[in-house]
Amino acid sequence: MTLSSPPVPPLGAPRDGSWDGPPPLPRPGPAVCEQPLAEHPGVRAGLATAAGRFGLLTVGDVLAHIPVRYEDYEAAVPVARLVPGREQTARARLQSIRVQRTRRRGLRLVRARLRDDTGLLEAVWFNQDWLARSLSEGDELMVRGKVSAGSPPSMSVKAHEVVEGGGGVHTEGLVPVYPGGEALPPRRVRDLAVAVARSAPCAIETLPAELRAERGLPSVADALSALHFPRHRGDVSAGRRRMAFEELLVLQLALMVLQRREASRRAAPRLAGGTSLRELVRMALPFTLTAGQEEAIADIAADLEEPRPMRRLLQGEVGSGKTIVAALAICQAAEADWQSAVLVPTEVLAQQHTRTLDELLAPAGIRPVLITGGIAAAERERRLLEVSTGTAPVVVGTQALLSEGVDFPRLGLVIVDEQHRFGVAQRQTLAEQVAALGGAGEAAHLLYMTATPIPRTLALTAFGDLRVSAIRGRPPGRRAVETRWVREDEREEAYAFTRAQIRDGRQAFVICPRVDEGDDDEGGRSAVAEAERLAEGPFADLSVGLAHGGLRGDDKRGAMERFAAGETDVLVATTVVEVGIDVPNATVMIIEDADRFGLAQLHQLRGRVGRGEHPGLCVVFGEPATDDGERRLEALTQTGDGFELAELDLEIRGEGSILGRRQAGRGDLHFARLGRDTKALNDAHAAAAEILERDPELDAAEHELLGRAVEARFDDLTRAIEA
Ligand code: ADP
Ligand code: MG
Repeated sequence: MTLSSPPVPPLGAPRDGSWDGPPPLPRPGPAVCEQPLAEHPGVRAGLATAAGRFGLLTVGDVLAHIPVRYEDYEAAVPVARLVPGREQTARARLQSIRVQRTRRRGLRLVRARLRDDTGLLEAVWFNQDWLARSLSEGDELMVRGKVSAGSPPSMSVKAHEVVEGGGGVHTEGLVPVYPGGEALPPRRVRDLAVAVARSAPCAIETLPAELRAERGLPSVADALSALHFPRHRGDVSAGRRRMAFEELLVLQLALMVLQRREASRRAAPRLAGGTSLRELVRMALPFTLTAGQEEAIADIAADLEEPRPMRRLLQGEVGSGKTIVAALAICQAAEADWQSAVLVPTEVLAQQHTRTLDELLAPAGIRPVLITGGIAAAERERRLLEVSTGTAPVVVGTQALLSEGVDFPRLGLVIVDEQHRFGVAQRQTLAEQVAALGGAGEAAHLLYMTATPIPRTLALTAFGDLRVSAIRGRPPGRRAVETRWVREDEREEAYAFTRAQIRDGRQAFVICPRVDEGDDDEGGRSAVAEAERLAEGPFADLSVGLAHGGLRGDDKRGAMERFAAGETDVLVATTVVEVGIDVPNATVMIIEDADRFGLAQLHQLRGRVGRGEHPGLCVVFGEPATDDGERRLEALTQTGDGFELAELDLEIRGEGSILGRRQAGRGDLHFARLGRDTKALNDAHAAAAEILERDPELDAAEHELLGRAVEARFDDLTRAIEA
């Protein structure tokens, strides 16, 4: 549908094309969209109450509640032309109706005789006695259902409606199927949509006419009408395209405005004090940095020299070499005499990072200081003093550092590692906390690092407040982990291979989807039971460890540490190992019930093996119930490129699988789907940049309503959310 195409005929208009335009409607102001359903003359009180319980309170809520799909019902057929065996729609008058008891207990039929100009039809409903009371002789009905031969022919009715001269809204044409619930079945939502249909013009048009014209997008009123009352599939896609574009445009604008406000709110220290420490570190490296690493290093170095706080996301797969990039940024801060803090999700990782950074930074004479809960009080005091006197150039810890009142007099750079489950609002909070730590009014630069490859669409939405650098590919000599998806009958073989590897001195992971049999989710192997089974059976002669999120922190850490130290041969675990445990000696990863994991997660998991000199093998068990599930596991075996997989995962499963539920929920995309609307997103991104270029404050007259929508979205994005 374009601007020039005719509007969608409203309900009751003839469907034969003789409709020649909408009756003149008053153009109600926004107030109508805010009108409570309970006050709408077309909505019965009972329906309004049910809708309210379902979360639909106003006319606008109903208009924005769009169908998930459409049933394609062809137009009504004259009774004489109904074809037995097929589901069809007929339109006829009710002659008589009665309830019939049957011999089967509890089964009662309602039988009605319907007649049109061509003949007689018997309509049958099961267990809906009330119909005999609510329908009256002479009613004009539309009925849809499967027809059986006979005289007269009969129809087992799946849907029916009383029409009075108008067209059907439940039984013919493209019939929308709405998301509904127990209190408000989809069909009742349809009734609501019909009742408020005439209010569609009330929706506020935020898109400037020129913008719509350039893209051939319908007005918001036409788009909503098209989604609720499409004449053909084309209407649906045009309506969706328009609503998705608008939503994404507003989101992009809000994120860009947010980025700009953040940047202008506080000054940051310019970290430009020479390059000597960086050179010392570089010279000591036993390898050459890859082009991807150099690019990321240059991006970051340039940001750090600016007097505005950097907000950057560095993404690169496990093993892509992000640590050295971080180390060089730390050097840059130290050269300018500013401190850095490295925040990681767990204490184990904090220890690991401290060791790695210690090695990398030694040539520059920089010694990282570890601060975690496990450190004895006196030692902790000493370390805190090093920090507060500015002697410690870099501190490593968990995020607890932010809330423990550590005093960083010259905090210039904060690096947050492996923390992709972070929404815009949480990043804001973190930036506030960081600013509070540094004290003196200058805000530290922030670098987020993640090993989860993030598709561009997600980078533009969920991370739209950040600039992004990506390290693609791996350092030379690092192979992708070979992955085999095997059947149950190859299990013995897989175990034999694992035992052989362990005999050669290697180690193995076994990953299960859940902790315990008693868990509430749908099943799959449990880590606890699997560890027991393996220790008694296939790996009876080996030492088997167990790590999962249900263990106390100490026990979990102990299990991981024993594995890292080579004391256990096999570690049975849940996805607790997903984040960053580094055991270069582990070469085999067996993943049970792989169909229960997201593709990105599987990729992340397999990145845990083959990190040392020996190649890794990932063996995947799983019997996906769907074609998509098969496609995912197939893809996993075929490509080692995390970015490619992430795009595919997004396409198949939606954003939730990549970011985890919490963050995906924050996207709050109502009309747009990231896997589907990539083009709309890119377009919206470009349009947003162009609009802000010309009208940075959105105060041109044609941007007034758009500006209001952006403000609303902006508030929504930055509202703190509970963890
Ligand atoms: P991640 O991105 O997962 O944090 P790391 O920074 O831990 O990756 O790097 C993984 C391993 O690769 C480390 O042992 C590191 O020393 C090594 N490495 C990093 N960059 C290179 C490179 N350019 N060439 C060879 N090895 C590299
Ligand atoms: Mg890392």
